[in-house]
Amino acid sequence: MNNLDLPKDLDTTQIITIDGPAASGKSTLGQRLAQALGYLYFDTGVMYRALTWLALQQGISMQDEETLTALAEKVPIEVTQPTQADGRAYDVWIGNQDVTWAIRQPQVDDHVSIVSIYPGVRRALSQQQRRIGLRGKVVMVGRDIGTVVLPEAAIKIYLDASLEERARRRFAERQARGEEVKYEEVLQSLRERDRIDSTRAVAPLRPAEDAVYIDSDGKDLDQVFELALQIVRSRQKQAT
Ligand code: C5P
Repeated sequence: MNNLDLPKDLDTTQIITIDGPAASGKSTLGQRLAQALGYLYFDTGVMYRALTWLALQQGISMQDEETLTALAEKVPIEVTQPTQADGRAYDVWIGNQDVTWAIRQPQVDDHVSIVSIYPGVRRALSQQQRRIGLRGKVVMVGRDIGTVVLPEAAIKIYLDASLEERARRRFAERQARGEEVKYEEVLQSLRERDRIDSTRAVAPLRPAEDAVYIDSDGKDLDQVFELALQIVRSRQKQAT
């Protein structure tokens, strides 16, 4: 059997996918849900970011699909428990290099959507993601998790918010980290990332047909979390 097939005894209500645009609150929701349920939290954006960061370090052109695809097939990205108490929820490693904060730099933001267009890059990273998801008891967050990576998941959430609301949140996050940043630049960068992520040919950002759509405009973190937890609990109850 291909190890990327769905194991027969897997309970698909224990696979939760959260997709949505940049800065819609997916990470916070994913972490809180995973903690409440005792599941693994896995943020797939980290993998695209780590690859982009490495490509920038190595001076690889963002147009060089072949080299980027080869890099995606061999880059040793690991996500582990946090080893430092500096506000991180997990560590991201490339080999023995801690890139947890480096992958959040604006340069990475500005190039990651281009790197994520390439079908070979997506294939390599999606396979790793699917392997992790098929172990079950997981909350996996990204753009294409409910549609492409784990379409068998029984619980899918699409978390949305208006561009302006998302820009305000990302701007506040960056300011809180002490970065010098302009609201207009954050807005523009998000707008461009949305455009590329939702118009690419392979695995574009869109809600799965069976996803529950949550608009987080005007809702605080607790309200979104409570709503999502209710959805999860009622789906899991229906299935028993
Ligand atoms: O979620 P985050 O903003 O960290 O993701 C960074 C970028 O990685 C996204 O803008 C998107 O281009 C790409 N991505 C993707 N598919 C995923 C997760 C992230 O294409 N499943």
